[in-house]
Amino acid sequence: MSTSVSDSVSSRISADPGEALRPAIKDQDLAGLEARFERQGIPAFRARQIFRWLYAKSPASFDEMTNLSREFRVALECEWDLHVMEERRSETSGDGTRKWLFALRDGNLIETVLIPEYGRNTLCISTQVGCAMKCSFCLTGTEGFVRNLSTAEILDQICQVKRGEPERKITNVVLMGMGEPLLNYDAVIRAIRVMSDSAGLGISSRRITLSTVGVLPKLRRLLEDVNVSIAISLHAASNEIRGRLVPLNKKYPIEDLIGACRELSLPARRRITFEYTLIEGVNDALEEADRLARLLHGIPSKVNLIPLNENPGLPYRRPTETRVAEFQSRLRVRGVNAVRRATRGADISAACGQLKGRRETDPVASGSH
Ligand code: SF4
Repeated sequence: MSTSVSDSVSSRISADPGEALRPAIKDQDLAGLEARFERQGIPAFRARQIFRWLYAKSPASFDEMTNLSREFRVALECEWDLHVMEERRSETSGDGTRKWLFALRDGNLIETVLIPEYGRNTLCISTQVGCAMKCSFCLTGTEGFVRNLSTAEILDQICQVKRGEPERKITNVVLMGMGEPLLNYDAVIRAIRVMSDSAGLGISSRRITLSTVGVLPKLRRLLEDVNVSIAISLHAASNEIRGRLVPLNKKYPIEDLIGACRELSLPARRRITFEYTLIEGVNDALEEADRLARLLHGIPSKVNLIPLNENPGLPYRRPTETRVAEFQSRLRVRGVNAVRRATRGADISAACGQLKGRRETDPVASGSH
């Protein structure tokens, strides 16, 4: 494991707290920036030029945008904040997973995780500081909700990681870090559009996965707004058990959630991923596997089995390897495409359910879905 601290990011986190913040340029989509420039008498093509800089090159400052005139770069610097977060710490796991702790301009902290795998690099990003969903097995859920991230704060996680790992191309993005993305809908949708825009980050939308515990009104609308892959944090096949793990289940019970999934207009060959965290003695009975197989029957889907990443202070344990294998084979026998997801980054608390952020003034900062 290694730790590094970067002080190279040109941000205003340490600026005088009384000083007003400039707007964040990454809150603008391309059309918005073009319209703003037009009103200021700046040719619209400049917006596309700046977008290329922001997302293809991720510069540390406007001054690096060398195909813009010096005068224009200074004007941009005066008007906008380029970055809205600053690296506080990064740690690299023995398996290559790297976790960043970022400080936002108001001192809140969030975490972002890069998972290198053969042939692809997946970035797990946060969409909120904390989370209101209070899932009982998740460390993020224990700290409660602080606030939504802005579009710029969602996107800047990707830009910061691109700068920190320039030799790694980010091929996949999962909105599975801190927060419930569908409760920060507008900012998340804007960010996804910039991620998938060829003038922005240029990541294919099917390689962007939004993970939700099932905020149904927004889930029903999602594919009309963006063409992303969907993961449902299911974790149980009965309301009795899921209600203990995911409090939102009381508002949107399993039958409604699965009904909504059946009605989604999935693109051809697209499947829904169902995340199932296996917890000893809670949801790992083979009868629960049978129920799960019946529940998902007829839905183009895949089940990701995630043996629990234990957290001190939470009353849940990981099942034995034998039980995980039995649960998986029971699903497979019943025709479910069940995949055991490898645990990545557990030695640096970067695995699922282990992300946690605090304000900078809090004594401990360590840092899902
Ligand atoms: S599992 Fe996801 S939705 Fe539930 S508390 Fe954790 S971050 Fe929030």
